[in-house]
Amino acid sequence: MAYRIPLSFPVFEGNENHYTGEVLASGNLATYGSFIDKFEKKLARKIKSHQAVALNSGTSALHLAMVLLGIGPGDEVICQSFTFCASANPIVYLGAKPIFVDSETDTWNISPELLEDVILTRIASGKKPKAIVLVHLFGMPAKIKEIMEVALKYQIPVLEDAAEAVGSKYEGNSCGTFGKIGIFSFNGNKIITSGGGGALISNETSIVQKAAHLSTQAREDLPYYQHLEIGYNYKMNNLTAAIGLAQLEKLDEFVRRRRKINQIYREMFSNFPGISFQDESNESYSNYWLTAILIDEKVTGFSNDKLRLTLLKKGIETRFLWKPLHLQPVFKELPFYGGNVAESMFLKGLCLPSSSNLSFDQQEEIASLIEKDILKSF
Ligand SMILES: *Cc1c(COP(=O)(O)O)cnc(C)c1O
Repeated sequence: MAYRIPLSFPVFEGNENHYTGEVLASGNLATYGSFIDKFEKKLARKIKSHQAVALNSGTSALHLAMVLLGIGPGDEVICQSFTFCASANPIVYLGAKPIFVDSETDTWNISPELLEDVILTRIASGKKPKAIVLVHLFGMPAKIKEIMEVALKYQIPVLEDAAEAVGSKYEGNSCGTFGKIGIFSFNGNKIITSGGGGALISNETSIVQKAAHLSTQAREDLPYYQHLEIGYNYKMNNLTAAIGLAQLEKLDEFVRRRRKINQIYREMFSNFPGISFQDESNESYSNYWLTAILIDEKVTGFSNDKLRLTLLKKGIETRFLWKPLHLQPVFKELPFYGGNVAESMFLKGLCLPSSSNLSFDQQEEIASLIEKDILKSF
């Protein structure tokens, strides 16, 4: 169904037609080509000091990153529970075991205190976790300083799933650059899109080179096809890279607009009791990919689902927050540490329309529909 006001729709107002036209005229739609090079270089410049390899999805970037971290059968990998399934699925692809951890209530991301407890518990039970998957939910940087301190103390590499946080910063540095490896997603509803795509970034040249090699079927540089190891078909192609490059040129602008959208929602709801937002600390700069709210039904008199249906009737798309992975039927046998923080946020939360071209009038319409719901309930 097409929504009158979608949750997060791509905006093409830059060089997309120009660049894709150039690619089609050239006939090179393969997984090498000038737009892939330009895209990788521009992305690397944007996030500073790191190198990037362009891939065909955020999920394949996560999978490759885990291969490069040496994750294999029987290993345990700590993963934020409050996230999209793609953060954890590649752990399972590799025969390893996700260990899910609850969130804290400020940024809604993994709790640094719980993280340390979990590491100690797993070490005591005989297995040191092989990696930590950290997520920046809806673009909001996690408590990176505290988390990196714990990771450093126990010498466990961090894989930063910055799929939702392209353009977000923490202490002035780009999200994705804090861990040993970081990944981004450029799928159709992320802040910038290549129509399907991802990237793996690292400041270790050997990691990036190895990722590039594995992503193109581990083909050796010889005139015939020779393979010394098993590779993957994970590289981005030249056509999607052309879209990605045009979008990347707009990233700063889109971040500014989405931050403005978030600020307007905050102002509009400031006199609605019972509605709260993610906390952005002084160190953090969220891209506000999606503005998400928590609705305290006891105060507002209406639930997240009631609001979702009210808005849906007017053609306005909203979405529940990610259902925590430890509550997913497919992961129900796996260990989980924490309480009901992520669970209760899932039960109360709703993501609001946040497209980079959402207008002020559309935001006012959404706010007035919510206000009517509130007034009706008293
Ligand atoms: C979108 C997303 C991914 C996966 O990215 P794709 O490009 O869709 O494969 C991974 N993790 C998180 C947190 C995401 O939101």
